[in-house]
Amino acid sequence: MSRIYVVGMGPGKEEMMTVEAIRTLEKADLIVGYTAYIELLGERFRDKEMMSTPMRREEERCRLCFEKAVEGRQVALICSGDAGIYGMASLMYEIGKEYPDTELEIISGVTAACSGAAVLGAPLNHDFCVISLSDLLTRWETIEKRLAAAAAGDFAIALYNPASHKRKDHLKRACDILLQYMEEERPCGYVENIGREGTKAVTCTLRDLRERQLNMFTTVFIGNSGSEIINGKLVTKRGYICGRN
Ligand code: SAH
Repeated sequence: MSRIYVVGMGPGKEEMMTVEAIRTLEKADLIVGYTAYIELLGERFRDKEMMSTPMRREEERCRLCFEKAVEGRQVALICSGDAGIYGMASLMYEIGKEYPDTELEIISGVTAACSGAAVLGAPLNHDFCVISLSDLLTRWETIEKRLAAAAAGDFAIALYNPASHKRKDHLKRACDILLQYMEEERPCGYVENIGREGTKAVTCTLRDLRERQLNMFTTVFIGNSGSEIINGKLVTKRGYICGRN
């Protein structure tokens, strides 16, 4: 039986990787991943063989892992954040059906919703939803339905993939849906380059957010009806002081 480790490496810098992720990568003799993530792995893993495939070639990357594992290599596939949150873990299980002699071990990592929330304050400190605005693999109508349901349920929301080169207006369209349920003054925020050089955190209202052109290295946070900006931090309260949510 061979085994592949699917490792969430957190948002970027090594300090934000779990000890388990670091130990797993140290044990591996082949690290596979998207080029940009391999570059983020610092000097520490320079002696490992690294293989990368470009973005959008996810299936190819997964198959490569299985083929190398069958050859006897100790393979670790790396994903940013957590491998089971818009990562490769599920695709690995799907492709893994064709490789019954290889088992998978998923090593969890700090997802952008958590690492970004920590930079911004405490925006997710009550019930929350995570929604990706990428319609590459999900129909836009489904995304709209989920945005509306999250807003109707008064969830705090973390938005992944707020933009890409091709999709410039997704965030604006998402805000328009949220504005059907939320007031324009709803406290929001976003964090760019979490755990990487150039980390930037901004708090704003939902009205302002609608006008922002954000890039793909940004995670967006929408407060719930009780969220507040306290000393520049976006805070979703649990209800200790001001009564029940
Ligand atoms: N598996 C990753 C998510 C991949 S989807 C995780 O668990 O974090 C890619 C989206 O994640 C980006 O568009 C952005 O919204 C968010 N993201 C991932 N890393 C980020 C970082 N370092 N800074 C800001 N946003 C990030």
